[in-house]
Amino acid sequence: MVKINEQYDVVVIGGGIAGTMAAIAAAREGSRTLLVERYSALGGMGTLGLVQPITTWGINGRYIIGGTGKRILEELVAEDKSAATKMSTYGPCCDAEYLKMELEKRALESKVSILYHTWVRGVKLENPERIRCLLAFSKDGDFEISGKVYIDATGDGDICAFAGIPFDSSENELGQQSMTLMMVISGIDRNKTPDSDCIHTIWDRHRGSCHKGALFWHPRRGSAYFNVTKAPGLNGLKASDLTEAAISCRRQSWVAYELLKQHVPGFENSYIAEIAPALGIRETRRIIGQYTLCREDVDNGRHFEDVIARAACPVDIHPRNNDGGEYYALKKSYAIPYRSIVTNRISNLIMTGRCISSDQAAHSSLRRMAPGFALGEAAGIAAHISTSSKDVRSISVKDLQEALLHYGAILEPEES
Ligand SMILES: Cc1cc2nc3c(=O)[nH]c(=O)nc-3n(C[C@H](O)[C@H](O)[C@H](O)COP(=O)(O)OP(=O)(O)OC[C@H]3O[C@@H](n4cnc5c(N)ncnc54)[C@H](O)[C@@H]3O)c2cc1C
Repeated sequence: MVKINEQYDVVVIGGGIAGTMAAIAAAREGSRTLLVERYSALGGMGTLGLVQPITTWGINGRYIIGGTGKRILEELVAEDKSAATKMSTYGPCCDAEYLKMELEKRALESKVSILYHTWVRGVKLENPERIRCLLAFSKDGDFEISGKVYIDATGDGDICAFAGIPFDSSENELGQQSMTLMMVISGIDRNKTPDSDCIHTIWDRHRGSCHKGALFWHPRRGSAYFNVTKAPGLNGLKASDLTEAAISCRRQSWVAYELLKQHVPGFENSYIAEIAPALGIRETRRIIGQYTLCREDVDNGRHFEDVIARAACPVDIHPRNNDGGEYYALKKSYAIPYRSIVTNRISNLIMTGRCISSDQAAHSSLRRMAPGFALGEAAGIAAHISTSSKDVRSISVKDLQEALLHYGAILEPEES
């Protein structure tokens, strides 16, 4: 049983892909690690948000992300073909239930203490530079959680914001990107369906006022993930906006399903197997860290001495409203520096996953889940190393890199 009033070495807030990997990595190194999650399963967007496939692991046919995340997914598909499609440099499509189980199993095997059903709502500072404890609430009421080092893996950068660290949120530029509620449709007769391109064409011809969409085949034959809803112009940090988005997107899901059933061969006896329990949030806060990774770094495949992960996902900015947005593939991978996951303000806080320090273009690339696996592992090992140092910013990045390489990470750029 998890004890909440103990002093942990590392406390990770947020059990998405990045947070789960961070907790596994810190615990595996020997840190007493607590993983706090407001819902009741791990995987975040990748499971509760039904976001699949898990991309992008490589470029030009070469892997640029390795490490424990890649191994977990390779082993998942080797165990059971209905758990995930084949691993590739693009990335596999996983069954969300298998992925939840696998992440939870790996976390528990690594001796991570998991605390579900708990929201972190604030922090108490020891001095302007250090977090003393987290303020949390659950059905138990209000309570405090203490650790030596904290990892903000909330996606929204909640902990950094509570600690007063400045952030960018693009409401005044291109805008926070629109939200999407994903769904899985099952009972599709794959002997009758045309290929995915043809389904997309049929969708475009018949979608009427529905949004452009994308289908990704599920590892279970006869099922597919659908990304066909959009809630533009809303703020992912406001409960009222999130409510409006959920209601609107759920309605859109049913309209889309009826159209698909009516117009796409093979969908006649299909049904909605699941609409995601968690709304798909693309962008909220981008925390300002010691180094803000920017569009030029990403476009030019920049390398950094303090590299802790690489990424090569396309720049993919969804519009805040219905028009605009930007999408382009990269020519080579870029490095993500350690300075982008630590801040100038707080000495015992590391961030990981989609809230790390980046401009909107860089964020739209690195927010994907393959970099999330790598960034999580890096943050977890960095937190473990930091437990015996006074400041997360003064650890030996060389030691961190050596540990990452030991677990199979790829830090050097691919040869051109
Ligand atoms: C519609 C959509 C399509 C996408 N398509 C793709 C794709 O095709 N391929 C791809 O790789 N990526 C895709 N992405 C991006 C990707 O899914 C996410 O950016 C990524 O999963 C973020 O991972 P994370 O671990 O940083 O955050 P999350 O997955 O958001 O995890 C954060 C976790 O923290 C918890 N949490 C948050 N706040 C608190 C709090 N205060 N207290 C306690 N717990 C808290 C949440 O419940 C959640 O479990 C897509 C995203 C969306 C929305």
